[in-house]
Amino acid sequence: SVAPPAWQCRAMTVAYGDFIALDGVDVGFERGRIHAVVGQNGAGKTTFARAIAGIVRPRQGQILVDGREIEPGKVRAARDAGVELVHQSFALPPSFTIAEAMEFGTRKHGQLFTASGLARRWTQHLAELDVTADVRSRIRDLPVETQQGVEIARALVTDADLLILDEPTAVLSPSGVERLFERVRRLKARGVTVILILHKIREVLAIADTVTVLRGGRLVAAGLARQALDPVALSDLIIGGP
Ligand code: ATP
Repeated sequence: SVAPPAWQCRAMTVAYGDFIALDGVDVGFERGRIHAVVGQNGAGKTTFARAIAGIVRPRQGQILVDGREIEPGKVRAARDAGVELVHQSFALPPSFTIAEAMEFGTRKHGQLFTASGLARRWTQHLAELDVTADVRSRIRDLPVETQQGVEIARALVTDADLLILDEPTAVLSPSGVERLFERVRRLKARGVTVILILHKIREVLAIADTVTVLRGGRLVAAGLARQALDPVALSDLIIGGP
C-alpha cells in the first residue's frame, strides 16, 4: 500500500506566449522526502518551480496538495498550502539585518505573531539551519552560505512544509554544498518535504530520495534515486542519449 503523494501536479503545461516551457507534466512528491528535479539548461526546471509556487499560471493542468486543488497562479494560495520557493538569486533586501528579514517575511504573508512568538520561531529555524551570525548583521555582509540559510529560515517562519530550492548549490563551494545538504537532511528529519533543483548528477546521488528528469519541457523519468544510482544512466536521461 503506497500512500498517494502529498503533492501532485497533473498534466501541467506552462507556456510563455507560443513557447511551451512545460508540456503535460505529471509528477507526485511524497511528504518528508528529498526530491531532486534535474535537467539541462532550458529543460523547464525553474518554470516548474515557479508554477508550483504560484508565480506562473499554468495554461493547463492541476496542482494538488493532499488531494485538494490549489488555485493556480496565486502565490498566496501556494503559501497557504505550505509551499515556499527559495530563488537562485536571493530575494531578501541586502540592506536588511537578519532580524528585519525575518519580520519582512511574516509581514508579507499577512500573518500575525506576537513579537516574542515570532522571535522564538526564527531563533529556532536559524538554529536548525546552523546560522550562528548575530541577528543584527546585515544580509549583504554575510557569507553567501549564511545568506542562503537566512533565506531558508525566512521561508520556514511561516510554517512551510514544502520547500523548493532553485539551484541552491550554484552559489556554493563544495564544502558549502555539504553544509547545505546537512541543513536539508535536518529539515527532512522533522518531516519537511524538500524539492531541490539541481544540475550535477553527483549532487543528486548524494542527497535525493527521488529524482525527476525534465528534458525540453517534458517529464522523461521519475523514480527513486537509488534506482538511478548509475550516473551514466542518469546522465543519458538528462541529455537524451545514447
Ligand atoms: P536553467 O537551468 O537555464 O535555469 P531551466 O531548466 O530552469 O533552465 P527554464 O528557466 O524553466 O529552464 O526555461 C525553460 C524554457 O523557457 C527556456 O527555453 C527559456 O528560454 C524559456 N523561458 C523561461 N522563462 C521565460 C519567459 N519569461 N519568457 C519566455 N520564455 C521563457
